[in-house]
Amino acid sequence: MPYELVFKHPFTVSIHSRTTTPVVYIRIWCEGVFGIGEASMPPYLGETQESVIDFIKKVDLSEINHTADLNQILAFIDRLAPGNNAAKAGIDIAFHDLFSKIEGKHLSTFLTLPNQPKLSSFTIGLDTPEQMANKVKEAEQYGFELLKVKLGSEDDAARMDAILSVWNKPFSIDVNQGWQNPDKDLDFILELAKSGLLFVEQPYLSTDLERARRLTACSPIPIIADESIKRWADMDVIAESFHGINVKLMKSTGIAEAMRMIQRAKANGLLVVTGCMAESSCAVAAMSHLSNLADWVDLDGPFLMKNDPFLGLNLVSGMLKLPTNPGIGVDFKVPVDSWAAVEV
Ligand code: MG
Repeated sequence: MPYELVFKHPFTVSIHSRTTTPVVYIRIWCEGVFGIGEASMPPYLGETQESVIDFIKKVDLSEINHTADLNQILAFIDRLAPGNNAAKAGIDIAFHDLFSKIEGKHLSTFLTLPNQPKLSSFTIGLDTPEQMANKVKEAEQYGFELLKVKLGSEDDAARMDAILSVWNKPFSIDVNQGWQNPDKDLDFILELAKSGLLFVEQPYLSTDLERARRLTACSPIPIIADESIKRWADMDVIAESFHGINVKLMKSTGIAEAMRMIQRAKANGLLVVTGCMAESSCAVAAMSHLSNLADWVDLDGPFLMKNDPFLGLNLVSGMLKLPTNPGIGVDFKVPVDSWAAVEV
């Protein structure tokens, strides 16, 4: 089911700005139970609603042995074509929803993970210093206790001054590849560390691992990879350049590989952020079940949208309360039958 998520405010980071994000919701039926998943396609990542639907049409489950387990099914789907990470994530989420519903468990129990509430951050998009300070009020209205501030421009100091004039709780910054000078950037990080800076995300171009390695080597505040890492295989490449990784379902191809990446990161002493793209409560609820594996949780997608079509994800005292219904734990606000679905 193709759908267009609409942002409450134009979403601006250092390299682009947009007002909507296309998504596709995917349902898989098995003996009267359905699993639901979401593929979200920020335009700069190259997937579209058409490419997601085309990929889903390639999936012929009759080719799978009926005794195959969930990981074998997902490995089969991954081999159908390279790329298509968001499409694969949507299918992976739908299968996890389905399998855990069949067992009558919510997803974290199905994955044998704890399901305690966990603090999540709220994103302040790049804007004028005044507007960014205004957006802090929105975070406070929701009750968020952590901010993630988008930076990566000439006026970063003025923007942080404006935000810190109205916010005295912890925060992280996401540079979205917008910085260039590790010496100057380290000075700025040390200054922000006095005001509660938790971590810095993706300071340099995704391919500029040498510059990231230089900053990571001398920064007392963790430097986290986002655009530099998508899947498990990328972990070999980035390990020396960052203190940690931001794992997102739309990059990792879904929950199964995200879990493996998180477990490997922790085994190797890397910090973990669980994040999201512009996503509704469907994909974000799915990722929220992995929250207790993360050092920091950055799952605010539904709070940035005007038209989240799901019920089910709540914030209590700044903490994401994991859904307790079976599966990923969310339901549509409107009857599913009223949707213009594409049957495949
Ligand atoms: Mg980021």
